[in-house]
Amino acid sequence: MITFTNLSRTAEIGSNCYMVDMDGVRIILDSGMHPKKEGHEAQPDFSLIGAATPDTIFVTHAHLDHIGTLPVLQDKHPSAEVIMTDATATVGLAMLHNSVNVMTAKRVQEGLIEYPFYTHPELDYAARCWMPRPYGAPFRIGRRGDVLATLHDAGHILGSCGVELESVSGTTILYTGDVQFDHQTIIPGAKFPESGIDILIMECTHGLKDRPAEYTRAAELRRFAAAIRETLENDGAVLIPVFALGKSQCLLRELARFKEQGLIPDAPLYFGGLSAKVTALYDKLADETPRMEPGLRLRDITETHGLPKQGKAPLVASPGNIYLVSSGMMSEHTVSHNIAEQIVTHPKDAILFVGYSDPDSPAGKIKATPHGEQVRLREKGGQAYPLNCRVESFDFSGHATREALVDYARRLAPKKVLLVHGDPEAMEWMRGAISAALPEADILIPQPGKPCRLD
Ligand SMILES: [Zn+2]
Ligand SMILES: [Zn+2]
Repeated sequence: MITFTNLSRTAEIGSNCYMVDMDGVRIILDSGMHPKKEGHEAQPDFSLIGAATPDTIFVTHAHLDHIGTLPVLQDKHPSAEVIMTDATATVGLAMLHNSVNVMTAKRVQEGLIEYPFYTHPELDYAARCWMPRPYGAPFRIGRRGDVLATLHDAGHILGSCGVELESVSGTTILYTGDVQFDHQTIIPGAKFPESGIDILIMECTHGLKDRPAEYTRAAELRRFAAAIRETLENDGAVLIPVFALGKSQCLLRELARFKEQGLIPDAPLYFGGLSAKVTALYDKLADETPRMEPGLRLRDITETHGLPKQGKAPLVASPGNIYLVSSGMMSEHTVSHNIAEQIVTHPKDAILFVGYSDPDSPAGKIKATPHGEQVRLREKGGQAYPLNCRVESFDFSGHATREALVDYARRLAPKKVLLVHGDPEAMEWMRGAISAALPEADILIPQPGKPCRLD
């Protein structure tokens, strides 16, 4: 018997965590932390796992919504084996150490006494048990080795994988994790199986996003370069809020290319913190992981100014500079939030968004505010500013478009499709599109805490 249980607390993109039981082999797929919730509510509902220890925990990649609570789960089930790619282990450790610092700061600033969920030494101890596996090499899991598992390159960020599982009776499952089929700046697109999958567990991040038919990445990059050039030539400052892992490295490469090609002036570029740490790891793994430009090290082609250390005076935004800084959603107490507060009222400056923002985040609020109207960048208190700076959004997503996901499902033709990692309306769009493409298939949206039988 094969069952699937969604261990996330809510049906949205958040603390991704799923349990699959394949004829008694108990498997956990990802152990994320909800980016918008705090404390216990940010964890998956681990109580649904029950008393029996899982055999294997898979982590698809190092974004915190997939790995953020792994040390908590390991503490509850220390004998479960933990599998991920070597690159995810390397980058994930840096992300989780940073998460300890963020949680510790929130404990002090916001009085959240359950933080940090684990300490730096506890994390190092947990990470010693992680077992890295390469892409494309099947291995057996479960006490008797009943399930055959294979990791496939998911093309989303460095080290990301999808997980293929084959039961003793021959039923096959593919969990996509976060996937991008197209090539990105630094890493090539996903290499997923094209046949032989019975059950597809698929992410739906962009289920509601309608990308214009004329979109090309090359044209979007040209539009992005033009916005930067116009702002700098007009004596303005450019803020590009980015996620530290994935988007930071892509854009660091693109900015270097823009300068090489003379598309933008050779302006000082501010870059640092976790983004710089992750970039050093991308460089360290340049020869061992799939790349669009094999062996290229970002540090060899970019010159950047660092950011002030914690506790030092914050950075002052100056005309003619580019700030490629996190967080991507401009959360409070981050460098991008601080720069945004300084430039939001300046007509010559620009905020250029390059990724998804939650509508409630400061980035989401700026995107939704018409030019010239008042915007508040802090949750509690803080002043309202007139939004006078230039604001533009660009699409360089690390996730597949909804059309690419539906097309993949159609080619793969599984008997069942389970939709995860999307807001409810996004998953409904995907359900409709996939049932039209695969009328024979059974399409499920597994609700939190409700196990479903898959065979
Ligand atoms: Zn991700
Ligand atoms: Zn994700």
